[in-house]
Amino acid sequence: MGLLRVGKPMGWHEALPIVPYVKEHGIQQFLNLYNKLKDRSGDVLKWGDEIEYMIIKRDDDAKTVKLSLRAKQILENLVLSELEYWREHSNNPDAVAPDASWKPEYGRFMIEGTPFFPFEGDISYYLKCEESMAKRREIAESLLEEDESLISMTMFPLIGAIKDLVHPPVDETTHNSSHSQYLPDEVINEHPRFPTLTANIRERRGGKVCILVPLFMDTNTDPEVGQRVPWDNIEQPLSTEDLDFKMSQRSPTQFFLYSDRINVFDNTAKVLSPDDTIPPASPCQQILPSTAPMIHMDAMGFGMGCCCLQTTFQARDIVEARNVYDQLAVICPIFLALSAATPIVRGLLAETDVRWNIVSASVDDRTPKEKAYIAKSRYDSISSYIGTGPQAVQYSDLELEIDQKVYDLLVDNQVDQVLARHVAHLFVRDPLVIFTDYDKVDDEMDTDHFENIQSTNWQTVRFKPPPANSTIGWRVEFRVLEVQMSDFENAAFAVFVILLSRVIIAFDLDFYMPLSRVDMNMALAHKRDAVNCEKFVFRTNIQDKSADAIYSQLTIGEIMNGKGDEFVGLIPLVVKYLDGLTDLDAQGRNQLNQYIELLSRRASGELMTAAAYLRKTVREHPEYKQDSVVTEEIAYDLVRLADRISSKQEIPVEMFGNLLKK
Ligand code: ADP
Ligand code: MG
Ligand code: MG
Repeated sequence: MGLLRVGKPMGWHEALPIVPYVKEHGIQQFLNLYNKLKDRSGDVLKWGDEIEYMIIKRDDDAKTVKLSLRAKQILENLVLSELEYWREHSNNPDAVAPDASWKPEYGRFMIEGTPFFPFEGDISYYLKCEESMAKRREIAESLLEEDESLISMTMFPLIGAIKDLVHPPVDETTHNSSHSQYLPDEVINEHPRFPTLTANIRERRGGKVCILVPLFMDTNTDPEVGQRVPWDNIEQPLSTEDLDFKMSQRSPTQFFLYSDRINVFDNTAKVLSPDDTIPPASPCQQILPSTAPMIHMDAMGFGMGCCCLQTTFQARDIVEARNVYDQLAVICPIFLALSAATPIVRGLLAETDVRWNIVSASVDDRTPKEKAYIAKSRYDSISSYIGTGPQAVQYSDLELEIDQKVYDLLVDNQVDQVLARHVAHLFVRDPLVIFTDYDKVDDEMDTDHFENIQSTNWQTVRFKPPPANSTIGWRVEFRVLEVQMSDFENAAFAVFVILLSRVIIAFDLDFYMPLSRVDMNMALAHKRDAVNCEKFVFRTNIQDKSADAIYSQLTIGEIMNGKGDEFVGLIPLVVKYLDGLTDLDAQGRNQLNQYIELLSRRASGELMTAAAYLRKTVREHPEYKQDSVVTEEIAYDLVRLADRISSKQEIPVEMFGNLLKK
């Protein structure tokens, strides 16, 4: 999240009259940028990753873990070397750059680290990624106290599950921004932007956010346990607001409960539910059966307090960026499932393995009226392709809500219809936080208002125009990956995605298939153990660009490793690409082979995903009572496990085989 400005952020009702101003200027800023930079070339490949970490406070005697609220303090130290570098740099261009760049995140317990400069072109940089990640961890850990841990887990297992969640403890928690019954506002980053964002989403939608995740039913699980405040142990019937949500929320998570009722090969992809009275807005959406046991959450912090792994790469030009964006969008669900790391939600085992839809529902600011015609949350999968070939139109089969004024303006100003639709779709959302100095932004020089809309459209992939006043090119961000506990795994995923983008370009691959199918895959990716249990619709003739798509239903193992004559597999293509590189030495190749091997064996089910391993660890814990409850001591042991895995003191063979050495 960018945009930490100097003005004061306005509350929703104060901001409301300014919304049209910001949108009008935002679109003008995009247009200026586009006209100025549409021919900008990014001649070398640059790329980088972003990793989010949590800071955990441990009590090793009591065996408890809390969220440590020291991120701000730690960040102030982390950025010292960056500030010094930029100060010195102007009079000494040879000043040594720091290893990492650090940013605040939504949680007061979170930090985000990226390489200081993006990695550049040359193949050897694939190998620098893990080194950079390890360095980042080392730097951040050096600022921790003895009883703190820096962990890269997607979701803190006890978030919303214990009353005393934070350290230092607070006497009286506040709930002004979120109104949450589970989460104190103290978990929210203290910069006014973040509590304002939280409150504005709530006020805009007209009530608390409502996040429902299917509960994992073990032999002793109480089906009501997910709808209770654990420390009160009082039954919390869902409010009318929540019930209203049940009736109108249509996000991919809910769909999978009905996946057996969908004929994926039927072109109309109708959902065949008898109790579906409201016509579904998109094929992947379905009303929840009121009887399914759910885990209830009610605050933005449950979603935006999740950590993830993202990669961004710079394309040669806008055309390449647009085309690779489309290809990677299809890959997103596959990599979401393969990187699954979120089996525990609000202290309970969930029937899902990934975070995506938790975040999606946690920032869903749609008003009741909007829910009738806007199919998705602003944090969701993409709804249109943006490539420059005919396939982008052919396979964009979802209804796309657009801001017609924005669309007309763009098309009148020579933006092609496909890109205009994409941008006009971004603009169906309102700016969530407007700062009091909003009118000090210069539309010719700045892009703040455009970025305000762009940066709060959190989709599976993001098409990033060059920032104003920079030499950066057009970029694509891959946003779905679940963060892994070790740098080795994070590097494997980040590097593979970048390699795959190279392979897509080098071999002119074509993954295009209808976006409604991609959304179905997205839904399936949420299912527990989707890697082993689900089949995903995937195009098999990916090396045949001019042909219509031929689909098959493949497991993740088959998509990654190939399936006989039917499908070549992503990994064999990456291997073929590497075989053709002349500047890769044996040691480098060996390291890349390790990454590929890890993903290959996770995909085939031979090795466990992080989610599967964490779930197994909980279920085999001596304190576990087969009731889906992750106790404080189990959570403590999980944090220690994450610590040991990240420092390579422990390398579970179920997750790593013999790939990682101490
Ligand atoms: P956001 O929050 O919008 O994702 P960040 O600044 O947090 O943006 O992350 C940007 C990512 O892009 C980092 O991984 C960084 O290394 C990478 N990056 C920075 N400059 C470039 C560039 N010119 N080309 C590609 N990637 C870049
Ligand atoms: Mg970032
Ligand atoms: Mg990012």
